[in-house]
Amino acid sequence: MEDSYSVKVKNLTKKFGNFTAVDHIDFEVKKGEIFGFLGANGAGKTTTIRMLCGLLKPSGGSGIVAGYDINNETENIKKKIGYMSQKFSLYNDLTVEENIEFFGGMYGLPAKEVKQKKEWIIDLANLQGMRKRITQDLAGGWKQRLALGTALIHDPDIVFLDEPTAGVDPVSRRDFWEIINNFSDQGITIFVTTHYLDEAEYCNTIKLMDKGKIIAGGSPEDLKTENIEANMYQIETDNLNKAKNILASMDEIINVAILGINLNIMTNQGMEKIENIIKKNFNKNDIKLLGIKTIEPTLEDVFVHLID
Ligand code: ATP
Repeated sequence: MEDSYSVKVKNLTKKFGNFTAVDHIDFEVKKGEIFGFLGANGAGKTTTIRMLCGLLKPSGGSGIVAGYDINNETENIKKKIGYMSQKFSLYNDLTVEENIEFFGGMYGLPAKEVKQKKEWIIDLANLQGMRKRITQDLAGGWKQRLALGTALIHDPDIVFLDEPTAGVDPVSRRDFWEIINNFSDQGITIFVTTHYLDEAEYCNTIKLMDKGKIIAGGSPEDLKTENIEANMYQIETDNLNKAKNILASMDEIINVAILGINLNIMTNQGMEKIENIIKKNFNKNDIKLLGIKTIEPTLEDVFVHLID
C-alpha cells in the first residue's frame, strides 16, 4: 500500500445468503482526510464499515486498512482504528468516568495513561462537572462527544463514525464538526457516514452508495459540477403549491422542489427563455411569477438527481 492511503479496497463484497449487501466496491481514503460515505438506509454503508473494522468477514474482494489486510489481519486493524457506532457505543448505566476507564482498559492502556486520557476526553467533550453523571442522563450532544473521545482514547490512525450526529441538536452538530476538523488537521483520517447532506459539505471526499454499489464520488464541488449540467433557478411566486404542480407538468423542467417559501427548478433552458415560458403558464393559471434567479445546486440536488 502507498503510504498516503489509510484505506484501499478492491472488489469488496458482502453477501447475506442470496442478498448482496455490498457489491464489488472499489475506493481509497487518503491519510488525514475527512471521507464521507453517503447513501440511503440499507445502501450498505454499515456493512462496509464493519468489514473495514474487522468486525465482519468479506464474502469477496480485498482491502487494506491502516496498513493491514481486512481478510486476515483484523486484530492489528482493531488496534489502529477507533469506531463510533450509530448508538454511540457507550455503557448507559456507567458514569462518564467509568465509561472512559472501561474503554481505556479495553484497549490495554496503562493506568497512568487512562488517567491522562480521562482529563483529555472531559476537556474535549466539555464534560467538566459531569464526571459522576450516569451516561444515560446526558443530553445527546454530550453523549456523542464522550463517545467520540472514547473512540479516540488509544490514538487511532483512523476513526470510523457511523452516523455520529443522528438525533443530535444543530448546535451540538456544528460543535462536533469543529472537533472533527481539528482531528483531521492533526492527521487522523475521519471516515464518516451521515444522513445530513449539509454535513457532507464538510467532507474532503464523498462516495455515494446505492443498493450496494458506489455510484458517484469526488469532492462536494466536483460532485455538483460533474453531475448537474442543467441550470438551476429559484422561483418566487404567490401560490407555492399551484406553481409546483404547473412547473412539474412542463416538459422544459427536469425537476422541481419546494424549498422553504420558494421553488427550485432544474432545466436545460437559459434564464430568459424559461422565464418567459413560466410567465405564460402562470398567467394562464392566475398566479404570479414574483422573481427568478440562478442558484448553485446543493448536494441534496445532486443526490436526488443521481438516485431517482
Ligand atoms: P443504515 O443507514 O440504515 O445503517 P446502511 O447503508 O448502513 O443503512 P446496511 O446496514 O449496511 O445499510 O445494510 C445493507 C443491507 O444489508 C440492508 O438491506 C440490510 O437489511 C442487509 N443486512 C445487513 N446486515 C445483515 C445481516 N446480518 N443479515 C442479513 N441482511 C443484512
